[in-house]
Amino acid sequence: MRYIRPVPSTPVSGPAPDDWSTRHSVLTTAQRTADLINALADDHPAPADVTAVLRAYGETDVGLSPREVTEMRASAALLREVFAAEDTNTAAATLNRLLHAHTGRLRLSSHDGATPWHPHLDRADDAPWAEWLLASSCLALTVLLWDRQRPPGGTCASPSCDNVYVTQGSGPPRRYCSRRCATRERVAAHRRARAQREAP
Ligand SMILES: [Zn+2]
Repeated sequence: MRYIRPVPSTPVSGPAPDDWSTRHSVLTTAQRTADLINALADDHPAPADVTAVLRAYGETDVGLSPREVTEMRASAALLREVFAAEDTNTAAATLNRLLHAHTGRLRLSSHDGATPWHPHLDRADDAPWAEWLLASSCLALTVLLWDRQRPPGGTCASPSCDNVYVTQGSGPPRRYCSRRCATRERVAAHRRARAQREAP
């Protein structure tokens, strides 16, 4: 889909710097996928909330109907399986299944010069949002798995959170979607340990 122009961005959780090629990087696309899956996780997500994520990632021509949001939810549910995969082989098998069933042929688009050339797996630049979400996400997650030889993301380890996240570069494996969840769980573990110590 669609045209991506410079955004005066106050991102939702956000793409990195407002740079023409950074905004189209594989990592930014994967991050957008995670943010959209999280925004679409409610039973009835408000179109405005989903629109806000798309705008944060530079999409300008966004007018989502409730029906389009419902269709995007179905795409998000399928993509969530990639983040839920326990290991690299399972993530790869899940992506292969989605690529086989839900994407078109690989092609390049520059949206008539409005963006850098980048690959697409949806069938046309004006494909429905749900198709675009699934195709662009499968592509980015596939490249990340290829590049790193590990799952492209995960699901937050906090029992009170369903968010997904993208694994960043190297370093110790990430377990939580956000610093907020990591802190909450650390405090909870600390309290449990103290309660146990103080128990008679
Ligand atoms: Zn979380």
